[in-house]
Amino acid sequence: MIRRILSGRMEENCYLIEEENGTVVIDPGIGTADRIIDFVGDKKLSILITHGHADHIFDIDRLKYDRIFVHPLDRERLLDAEKSLLNFFGRGPLRIDESAIVDCLQIGEKWRVIHTPGHTPGSCCYLYDGGILFTGDTVFMESIGRTDLPGGSEDAMIDSLRLLKEIFENGPDLKVFPGHGPGTDAREILIDNPFFR
Ligand SMILES: [Zn+2]
Ligand SMILES: [Zn+2]
Repeated sequence: MIRRILSGRMEENCYLIEEENGTVVIDPGIGTADRIIDFVGDKKLSILITHGHADHIFDIDRLKYDRIFVHPLDRERLLDAEKSLLNFFGRGPLRIDESAIVDCLQIGEKWRVIHTPGHTPGSCCYLYDGGILFTGDTVFMESIGRTDLPGGSEDAMIDSLRLLKEIFENGPDLKVFPGHGPGTDAREILIDNPFFR
């Protein structure tokens, strides 16, 4: 089962996925920690990060976790308040045990990682159980993530969108849960999202 927690600031979507051996939280944004803790209790928690921007990582150090999965190219964002834009939100770097940070390619067998640079170099989409795609700030229902922030690349984004378009066309029933805004599915994105026409 998948739950969504909406972060008040920046309206960032945090998702909770219950697995047999614990809970996975995707992008614990600003002010989500209390609700995550309520839900998880003292069960095992793993954190999965779609990319290292402040609005997706803000509450990490208020959580008790086992591991933090992130793409190696966004690892530096987790550790740097300027690169993550945490400074911009008026706080310093996250207090993270660096040894807990793991390459997101090793999440586990139910997960497939699709590296989709463009919004940031290490932005990833995570495919869960073959049917649900968490797209972070790469793809929203009717738009895509900006490429003008530090580390962003329009060229990389174009390649990432091409790859995702292929995935959407091959799996129109795929549910798509973005980092901001409502959830949708691949079929609707191919119709409604101008970047996929
Ligand atoms: Zn972002
Ligand atoms: Zn965001």
